[in-house]
Amino acid sequence: MTSKHILIVEDEEKIASLLGDYLKSAGFRTSTQNHGDRVISQVKKDPSDLILLDIMLPGKNGIELCREIRQFSNVPIIMITARVEEIDRLLGLELGADDYICKPFSPREVVARVKAILRRLHAKPLSQNLVIGSICLDDKAHQVMIDKQVLDLTPNEFGLLKVMMSQPNRVFSRNELINRIQGYDFEGYDRTIDTHIKNLRKKIAERLPGQEIISTVYGVGYKFSASAE
Ligand code: CA
Repeated sequence: MTSKHILIVEDEEKIASLLGDYLKSAGFRTSTQNHGDRVISQVKKDPSDLILLDIMLPGKNGIELCREIRQFSNVPIIMITARVEEIDRLLGLELGADDYICKPFSPREVVARVKAILRRLHAKPLSQNLVIGSICLDDKAHQVMIDKQVLDLTPNEFGLLKVMMSQPNRVFSRNELINRIQGYDFEGYDRTIDTHIKNLRKKIAERLPGQEIISTVYGVGYKFSASAE
């Protein structure tokens, strides 16, 4: 098994290297970035399994960066703040971060939180059904029901619906959707996704006419509209 890659975004060199040392000795591979303006290109070029994201940075700050990363990636993010009272404000911003840590922290605690998040991620299969409005997705049975009647879906349509339903109202790019449902040839994939979405919508619309369950976000991708509730 290859070791998980952690990106440390931190401009204080001492903290960055301390975190790096602890994470490496826990078996992780790490890279660091100390300037906010270089984070996005680095994340795109060399995707990591988790990002430790300091808030106060030269250039773009951690809040802006978290928002930007969430436009194209679901990578777990732990935000690092210098003020404990800031955590409430951050939670209120709904940035989509997975955890928050306040300075000063013990590196051991950071490693423990990193491990916890990665573990949670790997225990992926849904233990419960996803239920939104009258739509119920049963992951174990690989089945979707609308008003208790089975909706007949192809595996790709099921996969797309599951990804979007697991994070309602979050916009997924076509690329992300492809990565999540996997196992495709990449030839002309944009169109392929569009076709699956079109078919999925049609099937849902037959049961729930007039409701926009899957919305197109122009220039970005698709989302499951939880307003359907
Ligand atoms: Ca800082």
